[in-house]
Amino acid sequence: QHDTKAIQALDSAHYLHPFTSHGDLAGVGARVITRADNIYVWDSEGAKILDAMSGLWCVNAGYGRKELADAAYQQMMTLPFYNSFFNTTNVPAVQLAAKLASLAPVVGGRKFEHVFFSSSGSESNDTNVRMVRRYWDLLGQPQRKVIISRHNAYHGSTMAGASLGGMSGMHAQGDLPIPNITHIEQPHHWDNALPGESHADFGRRAAGWLEEKILEVGPEKVAAFIAEPVQGAGGVIIPPETYWPEIQRIVDQYGILLISDEVICAFGRLGHWFAYQKFGYRPDLITFAKGVTSGYIPLGGVMVGDRVAKVLIEQGGEFNHGYTYSGHPVACAVALANLELMEREDLPGRVKNDIGPYLAERFAELSDHPLVGAAETCGFVAGLVLVKDKGTREMFDPALSVGMICRGHCFRSGLIMRAVGDRMIIAPPLVMTREQIDEMMGLIVKCLDATLDDLRNAGELA
Ligand code: PMP
Repeated sequence: QHDTKAIQALDSAHYLHPFTSHGDLAGVGARVITRADNIYVWDSEGAKILDAMSGLWCVNAGYGRKELADAAYQQMMTLPFYNSFFNTTNVPAVQLAAKLASLAPVVGGRKFEHVFFSSSGSESNDTNVRMVRRYWDLLGQPQRKVIISRHNAYHGSTMAGASLGGMSGMHAQGDLPIPNITHIEQPHHWDNALPGESHADFGRRAAGWLEEKILEVGPEKVAAFIAEPVQGAGGVIIPPETYWPEIQRIVDQYGILLISDEVICAFGRLGHWFAYQKFGYRPDLITFAKGVTSGYIPLGGVMVGDRVAKVLIEQGGEFNHGYTYSGHPVACAVALANLELMEREDLPGRVKNDIGPYLAERFAELSDHPLVGAAETCGFVAGLVLVKDKGTREMFDPALSVGMICRGHCFRSGLIMRAVGDRMIIAPPLVMTREQIDEMMGLIVKCLDATLDDLRNAGELA
């Protein structure tokens, strides 16, 4: 047992939290999470909470997996650390690189046979910026520096990661974005479609914004386009099926590199090892991170397709970039154990054929709720748009923070769901059962009802 008040006091006194700088947002002290098992976490007061966000989009294999702890212990006792700079390597890093290469399918003749390791998604996207610019330098086109990204995207929190990301709140601080990064609108049908525009037409039109931007910047200056297959932290924005094929056509036409940031979407989340398989496009570089170890230990990296690898290796010589923890043996050993476990339990297959379709079926039922304007799923991520008027699609006054009201009810009811504005989103562990999906749906409905009651009592709804 922990003394909650004492931990909260230390938290307030010493811990600068990510993104909030102070954990005591509600004025009642930060919630202290002390242990976890399967899809549940417990707080210091003993409350059991269903974690529908997999920690932070990553605990794919669920909590309490002994094989992952054992892998870390064994590797720590054998070789806890050595660097891979210049001319040394280590066994788990090599084996993991080979394993990842074997899991990435060949598309359109493009292979992924090389992996660069880091410790996080942010670092990996910094690597991407360095790598694409190095690629164009080596090809004698150093003017190709501009990387196009999308508004509301999340690509990390370092200077490059936050600049690639399209979160206006992050750009408002720290003099971001850094030069040569520019953004287009997200493919968000709810926010950006014209009245009556079909998803298919909207998808093609939204992809066309990339072409417009390339022409505005000048095709000879564009190095790459980076995007998440499904935007995660921006609120689970699922692109129409017509979006990615058109994006592929455009990047091919202008010869620019395509970076698929799969930090959330890879490793089964969309029912495949890698998300480009689901949408059928051909990236040149793939960002991965936390899900590769189910979040048990920090690890990230970039899968480097043969188009870039060939130039870097055959013409490159030195690439003056790397991290002390690139290819950390303990992190790589845990990742190997995690991927083995995921293969054994066929977690991507479960998402594709079993729990994914079941979640979609159950989520669709939420469309009947008076507060829900849209209920969308893709694999094992899902989002709800909370609306004031379903008919006119009128949203609530942002000052009401309806998403936060709903999130508060979730927290008190034993459910972790995330609010992004007035979108409520989930990404549960991939080991979830159908019974646990039912349990989660019961909690979601309870929290939506409680939010509805609050809004009616406050006179915001009839
Ligand atoms: N890219 C995407 C798509 C992400 O969702 C995240 C984190 N949620 C990152 C990059 C950054 O990863 P990290 O927090 O490990 O730096």
